[in-house]
Amino acid sequence: MKGVSLKVKLTLLYTFFMLLLTGTALALMLSLSSREILTSVQNKLEGRVQECLDDIELQSGEVRVDSDFYSVTGDVYLALYDEEMYFLYGKVPYGFDRQPEISDGETRTIKDGGKEWYVYDLSFRLSADKTVYVRGITSVTDAEESFVVTVRFALILLPLMVLATALIGYRFTRRTLLPVRTITATVRKIRQDADLSRRIGMKSGDEINTLAVTFDEMLEELEKVFQREKQFTSDVSHELRTPISVIMAQCDELLGRDEMTEKQEAAILLIRRKAGRMADMISQLLFLSRADQGRQALNKERINLSELTEMIIEEQKMLSEAEKRGIRISWIISPNIYGYVDETFYIRILVNLISNARQYSRDGGNVEVRLEEAGSNVVVSVEDNGIGISEEDLPHIWERFYRGDRSRSGGDHSGLGLPMVKWMVEAHGGSITVESREGAGSRFIFSIPQNEEK
Ligand code: ADP
Repeated sequence: MKGVSLKVKLTLLYTFFMLLLTGTALALMLSLSSREILTSVQNKLEGRVQECLDDIELQSGEVRVDSDFYSVTGDVYLALYDEEMYFLYGKVPYGFDRQPEISDGETRTIKDGGKEWYVYDLSFRLSADKTVYVRGITSVTDAEESFVVTVRFALILLPLMVLATALIGYRFTRRTLLPVRTITATVRKIRQDADLSRRIGMKSGDEINTLAVTFDEMLEELEKVFQREKQFTSDVSHELRTPISVIMAQCDELLGRDEMTEKQEAAILLIRRKAGRMADMISQLLFLSRADQGRQALNKERINLSELTEMIIEEQKMLSEAEKRGIRISWIISPNIYGYVDETFYIRILVNLISNARQYSRDGGNVEVRLEEAGSNVVVSVEDNGIGISEEDLPHIWERFYRGDRSRSGGDHSGLGLPMVKWMVEAHGGSITVESREGAGSRFIFSIPQNEEK
């Protein structure tokens, strides 16, 4: 029964019990009423025989019966015999040809003419030397036939009743379990869109409704906790901004003086560099927390992406670090591709991807940027032949603060770049994927709709 839905299981369960219950009740009823019918037939037979004794009399030594004796009341036939079993008066039913021995005061079952008969004999003493025998005969088969009709009727009715129970039960269970479907759908949606503001929205009622209400209450709490956490990140980042700026400004001021020894200058430069990294990280954190709170607005406009992309690459090429390590950056850009994008975000996406490609390249490596149209989308890819990403790291690189193989990435990495890139691409209604092989290189491909709508 694994994988079978709850409503089917429940329907099968009570249909089975319904079948069992009605089957047993019916069998019991039929067996009782069959016995009842036979007993009543027997009683009727014996009663009729005893009652007809009034119709027999002795007139001047001759046995006489009045006309009532011939009437077949309640399917009981009457026949009168003398002591030598000589038939005197009455009627014997068609098909009953046997003439069994007299058995006084006892009802017997006799088979004849393909039927079963009840035969009841009773002696009647008319005078001291005249005794006659009254025989009552009635068909058991005829009585049973009416009973067979009842049985047939019951046998047709039983499956119909079971079917009706299954159908009504199925509909009822479906309706009862409907809230469960709503709960499942809502939870799935919450997972899919990572949107904790969704609610199932049911009123308290039965157990399932109460479960839904409890679920909503839990979601409410969770949302508050997340909200508080986001607020905390945002507040901390804000609070850290000023001291970091002061540290950086003081470092710059010190570096501008001549009185420092080489050692001191090196130490201040290190502090300045680390503080700069912290400032970057804080602005990334602020960006993400604004994005989480829905406060990161997009300023989209129609831009020549071919030109913009080329400009970004030129700037990246000029960075001294890339030149020092002999990393070549090349590009294949279709001319005059326009897109409806937020310029600042587009630059950030590309700078992030190119600087990652550079950082995770080997000395003398190659980075290639492509820009092309695909249907109504702009597709950009940034490919490098650097160290690549291991299979274990690959699914996690979009998570905040995730850094693959920390020993290689050094201290200047935050693990916030790709989550930001992903958010910015998706905010444009686009998507981003990565193909990578450890030791061979990586290719990040993002696609965004060219037009305003979507
Ligand atoms: P950061 O680079 O600051 O660590 P990112 O979010 O930009 O953070 O990247 C997350 C991780 O993804 C990196 O630590 C690195 O392991 C991996 N990664 C990103 N880009 C590349 C790339 N081009 N080649 C190899 N690994 C990469």
